Amino acid sequence: MSFARSSNPAETLPRYRVRHSSRARHVSLTIHPADGLVIVVPNGFDEQLIPGLIHTKRSWIDARLRQFSDALINDEAWLRPARMTLPAVNEHWSIKYQANSSTTVRISTQDKNMLRATGAIDAEVKLHAALRRWLKRRADLALPQRLTELADRHDFSFTRVTIRQQRTRWGSCSSRGTISLNAKLLFIAPELVDHVLLHELCHTLHAHHGDSFQALMADLMPNHRQQRVALREAWTHIPRWAHR
Ligand SMILES: [Zn+2]
Repeated sequence: MSFARSSNPAETLPRYRVRHSSRARHVSLTIHPADGLVIVVPNGFDEQLIPGLIHTKRSWIDARLRQFSDALINDEAWLRPARMTLPAVNEHWSIKYQANSSTTVRISTQDKNMLRATGAIDAEVKLHAALRRWLKRRADLALPQRLTELADRHDFSFTRVTIRQQRTRWGSCSSRGTISLNAKLLFIAPELVDHVLLHELCHTLHAHHGDSFQALMADLMPNHRQQRVALREAWTHIPRWAHR
C-alpha cells in the first residue's frame, strides 16, 4: 500500500463547477460558499485541461476548502441563527424565535438590536427566505443612500439602483447606467462596500476593466487591488441562510 500522493491528474478531484465567461481572459479558481470550487474559463476553453489544472493548484484548493468548512462549522446554529452581524452598517441584531400556527414566517424589528421571527419557524426554507427578505429590506434602505453619497462626492451619475440577491456577484452596472447591488454586501466591511459601489460607479464611465477603468479606480481607492482580494475572501463570511 502506498500513501504517496498521485501525480496523475486522474486522482480523485474535489467536486467543482465550471462557468464559461465571455469576459474572462484567463482561467481562475474561486471558492464560493454556495457552489464550492468554481472554475471560471474563457469561452472556447478546452475542459479536458481542467483536471490537470486542479492538480497543480491542489494544495491551495484543499486549504481554502478546509478554511471554508471551518467557517461554516463556526457559524453557530446556522439553521436558526441567534444573531446577525452587519458590519456594513455597524449593526448587531439578536434574533428571537416564537413558533405559532401560521404557515408563513414573519420577521419584525423589536427594538434597536432585536429581531423576532414568528410563525412556521421550524420550516427552515421558509425561515431562511424570511430572513433574506428582511436583509433585502435593510439593504434597500442602506445601499442606495450610500451609492448616492459616493456618486455626489465623486461626480458620477447613475440612472437607477436596484438591490438584488445575486449568487456570485457583489454588483453590476448595465450599459444604461442601472446599478445592481447585492443585499449580502451588508455582511462585509464598509470600506469594501465602498469599493464595490465605486467599482460600479466607474462603470458608468467605462464599460470595461481596461486601463482607463483601472486608473480611475486607483485614483479613487489607492489600495483597490488588496481590496479586490479581500472581496473574494469575503464570500466566506456570509451565513449559509443568506444564500438561496
Ligand atoms: Zn466590473
